[in-house]
Amino acid sequence: MNNWDYSVFWNEVINQAKVELSEHEFAMWFNIQYDSSTENSVSIRVPSSFYRDQLVRQYQKYLEDKLFDLMGKRITIDFIVVKPTMSDEARSQSQAREEKIESTQKGQDHANPPRDRGKHPQLRVDYTFENFVIGDNNGFASNAALAISKNPGTSYNPFLIYGGVGLGKTHLMQSIGNRVWIESRKTKIICITAEEFTNEFIQSIHDKTTQNFKNKYRYVDVLLIDDIHFLQNKLGSQEELFHTFNALYDANKQMVFTCDRPVSELKNLSDRLRSRFERGLNVDLQPPNFETRCAILKKKIEAGHVPVPDEVIEIIAKNISTNVRDLEAALTKLVAYAELVHKEITLEIAQNQLKDVFSQSKHGNVTIDNILRVVADYYKLSYNDLKGKKRTKNIAFPRQVAMFIARDITEYSTTELGFEFGGRDHTTVMHACQRIDERLKLDPNLESTIQALIRTIKDYSAKI
Ligand code: ADP
Ligand code: MG
Repeated sequence: MNNWDYSVFWNEVINQAKVELSEHEFAMWFNIQYDSSTENSVSIRVPSSFYRDQLVRQYQKYLEDKLFDLMGKRITIDFIVVKPTMSDEARSQSQAREEKIESTQKGQDHANPPRDRGKHPQLRVDYTFENFVIGDNNGFASNAALAISKNPGTSYNPFLIYGGVGLGKTHLMQSIGNRVWIESRKTKIICITAEEFTNEFIQSIHDKTTQNFKNKYRYVDVLLIDDIHFLQNKLGSQEELFHTFNALYDANKQMVFTCDRPVSELKNLSDRLRSRFERGLNVDLQPPNFETRCAILKKKIEAGHVPVPDEVIEIIAKNISTNVRDLEAALTKLVAYAELVHKEITLEIAQNQLKDVFSQSKHGNVTIDNILRVVADYYKLSYNDLKGKKRTKNIAFPRQVAMFIARDITEYSTTELGFEFGGRDHTTVMHACQRIDERLKLDPNLESTIQALIRTIKDYSAKI
């Protein structure tokens, strides 16, 4: 029994052919089935020698080139004639089809359909290093990412980028993919979210195709998985990823992950997978400072064709500070408005149009309730636990974090906060804030967790 199974790649080739060829052509010629693989070939079942000859003449090169693009190595296709066992009726239909094919094939020659590696199906074309501003908040991460894209699999493996929403994790990860994709035609890259990985894995169990699933992921050169915090509580997928990880790691294949928090703070993650994530290089992205925010806005403006004065850039950068996605959204809104009314963007227009955006990002609707909900959710507790009287350690610490954040981002006094947090004394709140202050000095991860929580609370509050 051999271990080769290229059926996933073959299916993908067929999917692409279906899109690229005309419906008529596809229906006529692609009545063929995957049979088996060896190390350097796949066997495809075709219903007759007539089919085989036509496929060899017209499509073999086309299909082999596609396989090469997907797999990064040359695989030959052997068409084997397997007479289908079918009812007489079906047979006569098939014969009729062959006759029709013979009569129409002349004008149909498809010896060399245009072929271009084009865009990677899973990577966004605009998520490139060229479009990514290197600033105070991401210098280390960006340089590591650049180094990795020069020599995937050799220097930092895995590479894990963590940080709050909208700070550029996905953009940076995909930049690696795009750079590798352009520079080396042979490299096979997969880029997916942890959620897609999980869904696909579950589907493969359901379809009894887990072997295909395993082959697909263990045969890549660069594996990019976004938002691995999704794997919390998903033990089956964790197990699968653990084995994929080991296979790729041993083969020196590059892995890149992103996560919304430091790996040490993921809950319900197997220790062995956690230690794999922590093995290579873990770097965080912070919110950008004012200069970097201006530089990011300028970059986005370059890409468009609407001029935006510097004073407008500055007022946007001044007012939106926690999230690059929001920064971009404000600019997009302004540009869209200016285009619609055919006006040049001025400071006055910007102030008017972005009034709501600015005031929301300053105050939001941050309430104690929102803080409790977000913090409880993060630590996998219930809202009532956090607000209640229980003093067990797993509740006391998150509660202190919530109090600390409330003190930081709301205008409530400690007395008011004590009242809001289940009728406690103001000294309890003060004590909580001191405790967190102390821990912040000892634990560098806590800072980014709290920053991430604050951003989530603001996002969440802005939505309601
Ligand atoms: P995350 O995955 O961390 O939530 P994204 O990568 O989706 O964030 O980034 C959000 C948006 O901000 C994207 O449109 C991205 O292009 C942009 N962005 C983030 N950081 C930068 C940067 N340093 N330079 C240019 N654009 C950036
Ligand atoms: Mg993302």
